[in-house]
Amino acid sequence: MNTIEQFNEHVMPTYGRYDLVLDKGAEQTAVDEDGKQYIDFGSGIGTNSLGYCNEEWVDAVCAQVKKIQHTSNYYYTKVQADFAQKLCGITGYSKMFFGNSGAEANECAIKVARKYSFDKYGKEAERNIIITLVNSFHGRTMGTLSATGQDVFHNYFFPFLPGFVNVKANDIDDLNKVIAENDGKICAIMFECIQGEGGVVGLDEAFVKAIFDVAEKNDILTICDEVQTGVGRSGKFLACMNYGVKPNIVTMAKGLAGGLPIGVCLADEKCCDVLTKGTHGSTFGGNPVVCAGGLAVLNNVTKEGFLDEVIKKGDYIREKLKDVPEVTGISGMGLMLGVSLKTKTAGDVCKACLDNGLLILTAKEKLRFLPPLNISYEEIDKGLAILKDILEK
Ligand SMILES: *Cc1c(COP(=O)(O)O)cnc(C)c1O
Repeated sequence: MNTIEQFNEHVMPTYGRYDLVLDKGAEQTAVDEDGKQYIDFGSGIGTNSLGYCNEEWVDAVCAQVKKIQHTSNYYYTKVQADFAQKLCGITGYSKMFFGNSGAEANECAIKVARKYSFDKYGKEAERNIIITLVNSFHGRTMGTLSATGQDVFHNYFFPFLPGFVNVKANDIDDLNKVIAENDGKICAIMFECIQGEGGVVGLDEAFVKAIFDVAEKNDILTICDEVQTGVGRSGKFLACMNYGVKPNIVTMAKGLAGGLPIGVCLADEKCCDVLTKGTHGSTFGGNPVVCAGGLAVLNNVTKEGFLDEVIKKGDYIREKLKDVPEVTGISGMGLMLGVSLKTKTAGDVCKACLDNGLLILTAKEKLRFLPPLNISYEEIDKGLAILKDILEK
């Protein structure tokens, strides 16, 4: 029995997987079971932010494994404290909560938002509605699925969690209409600055400003889901920094620990003490090995000039693709890019890339780039050569 048959016999078929069994990797290149190499423009959906087995990251993770691999959250560890201090310092947030995934980070944000209003306005006020955007993606748990503003996800698993209403992204009139319809009942507005799974769709500056204006006026918390856009992906440490705004709550996950499971919920002074003893928790949240990997990522991303390079490399990819006849548009920021195609389907291109030694993602009808943040120009060139060849066929 080969690996794929073995896997499929024992694992629930929730993913449409490609026939590819990855065995190892180094820097931006992955290697399959037969030794074939692949340049990686997807980095495990933006998780391997420093590429495969980055030396500094490996050293930090291995040293921590040998020291203490885990302890319960009834005790403290230094590496957790170091990570939390560093992340709060970089982002300017007061406190954070440790979870293990993007969905968990968002669950925490939802709980903070609801309890904030409960504490301040009381149970009877029923001030518990969270506005999310049409075409958003916030996770796969029952709570975050309910938050996700895409009808395709609202199936099978009824009943979904009540208390979410959707607003069309970049539609200020719709925002104001929904706020008026739910007058006094809204506790938070949750959004991605660049909708990732929704097709790499960026929010307009005017719309983001409208969110913050209306939130400020009505004591509504702003929650920015930076699970995909955070840790330098957009060229700033957080994508919301491109808009000059500071949400009350920011969630981060994917690339934050360089390929180890993490999810954090950051909160500002206004709501950082809402969750109190016993109101939230996670057995593995803040795992020391994960925190050690996370610290290595933070140390790298905050190095002088690192984020400028992310912007330059993003621009470089745009420049190289803009005159390809098959390319009709490029969306996104930094090293999070969505490429629209004229005649080909993204799925077919993605499959052809794989056959030719390039891993790349799709998002809705677009090709999606989420390469390691430290990808070299040489690897970008190699990967683009494969892609262009396919697009020009
Ligand atoms: C991937 C993603 C999530 C879910 O993260 P998981 O780690 O899969 O739970 C949530 N929000 C956004 C914006 C994402 O891209």
